[in-house]
Amino acid sequence: MTTLGIDLGTSNSLVAYWNEDKAVLIPNVFGDVLTPSVVGIDDNGEFLIGKIAKERLTTHPDKTAAVFKRFMGTEKNYYLGEHRFSATDLSSFVLKALKEDAEKFLGETCTEAVISVPAYFNNTQRKATVDAAFLAGLKVERLISEPTAAAIAYGIHEQNDTTIMVIDIGGGTFDVSILEMFDGVMQVIAIAGNNYLGGEDFTTVIIETFLNATGLKKERLTTKDFASLYRQAEDAKQVVSENGVGKIVLAENEFTLTVDQFEQISQPLILKLREPIIQALKDAQLKPADIEQIVLIGGATKMPIIKSFASKFLGKIPFMHINPDETVGLGAAVQAALKERHESLEEFILTDVCAHTLGVDSVRQISNSKYQEGVFTPIIERNTTIPVSQMKEFYTIYDNQNTVKLSVYQGESSNVKDNLKLGELEIKLPPNTNKDAKIETRFTYDKNGLLEILVKIVSTGEVKQLIIQKNPGVLSDSELKGQLEKLSDLKIHPRDRSENRLLLARADRIYQTSLGETRQYIEFLMLEFQKAIESQNEKSIQIQSKNLKEKLADLEGLGWD
Ligand code: ADP
Ligand code: MG
Repeated sequence: MTTLGIDLGTSNSLVAYWNEDKAVLIPNVFGDVLTPSVVGIDDNGEFLIGKIAKERLTTHPDKTAAVFKRFMGTEKNYYLGEHRFSATDLSSFVLKALKEDAEKFLGETCTEAVISVPAYFNNTQRKATVDAAFLAGLKVERLISEPTAAAIAYGIHEQNDTTIMVIDIGGGTFDVSILEMFDGVMQVIAIAGNNYLGGEDFTTVIIETFLNATGLKKERLTTKDFASLYRQAEDAKQVVSENGVGKIVLAENEFTLTVDQFEQISQPLILKLREPIIQALKDAQLKPADIEQIVLIGGATKMPIIKSFASKFLGKIPFMHINPDETVGLGAAVQAALKERHESLEEFILTDVCAHTLGVDSVRQISNSKYQEGVFTPIIERNTTIPVSQMKEFYTIYDNQNTVKLSVYQGESSNVKDNLKLGELEIKLPPNTNKDAKIETRFTYDKNGLLEILVKIVSTGEVKQLIIQKNPGVLSDSELKGQLEKLSDLKIHPRDRSENRLLLARADRIYQTSLGETRQYIEFLMLEFQKAIESQNEKSIQIQSKNLKEKLADLEGLGWD
């Protein structure tokens, strides 16, 4: 039986399968491979999915729902007439339509699928996607991150270690991901984006330019006229993207859009693409030159201004020889085929990364007697690979301090009041505690959204624990205990972990038996490894440890010891 590859998109969805030696997209009843992710109900109470529903979006807004992917896994309700649906329900209707198209095309029943989801989807959103598939009669063999699927479609999983950036501009979302192929595992190492920037915004500026040029007022247009204007603006956008001249005619008003004019009115939107790209590079601690390959996906990247922006900004010509709105669906089908052959690419998904910074409320001493309250001190930085455990030391701020209140926050602002408070812990200090008494705070975080906070008063050794769950009640008490046990290894500082101590001891042994330049070289290697250890960043430790091992093996092989 064929396992389907599905891109369940915010604007458009696709289904593909593996046919002998390549991924192939499956057309719907209209012969299109893109099915708009829009659901509606007609006057007879019949469901409409895809193109027809999309056409009724402006004319029947109360009976049509779109862009529901934004609210996957939330309680939000959508009303179609008197029927009430969740985003999961609506997604299941789209998936069911794709499944039926595939079954008709392939002439067999299909019950299994690989479905792509945004890299930043958390466990709740991923679970909602699996539930939607279940409601549609599909078992999810695997969820795959959209950027990973795109990379697979380009065969990047067949390359050795490489670093790539995937730029995805869909209908209403802009996602930048940096991926690393390392030791046969694809890892999303950073993501950034703008959830409210996409191809639709370019259509909107065309509509605004038309209204300005003609003096027409949006509020005065009939629903039908607006629907026609929207459709023409959308067409004009695609025509200028292919180097033609766009044309909009509404009543006796005629308007033409040239490539130059489109470029000019799009500038403010193009400028907004920069910041998330810079952010992703910064989080991954990379320079533009470190990105070896760029992949453009999402229908909106078909606009030549996007490609030329990306090339100029990053100094490299991006790949986009696969149709950018089809890349993710094709990649999902490749993963489905790999899975059937038991070779599927292992992926470090973004639930393997902490999406927001976690830290505590602290007081900062500005001068001898001046303190600033409400300062956010990060303990686990965003985009850190998880599971992770990090420790920071804090100190009492005055003599005879009797308690320490630790408030836990999530967010990126240096000011705690702009961040989200997750919980708090109060610890009694022993009598006569002086200023500058040391308190160790350890945060341990895993991919189920389980955050364990341990606070240790160093003078007495007393430890207090606080557990914060992202989705309380998801884990039973025994599961929670099991999970915490699994993490216990991590709570040992990497410098105390036996494998790291052994490696350093080995390096030191070779150092002792070497002389001169070799010694300096080994010293340098050890220093790099120790720096990684002190950063407590598992990924850097892994890289530096591999490097040190290789170099030591070389030295030993050359008979240095
Ligand atoms: P999503 O990932 O949100 O489901 P898609 O990747 O299908 O979205 O992208 C949809 C967006 O791409 C729409 O805004 C659409 O107007 C735009 N788009 C599709 N084809 C073109 C084209 N030839 N030129 C410009 N924009 C296009
Ligand atoms: Mg998409």
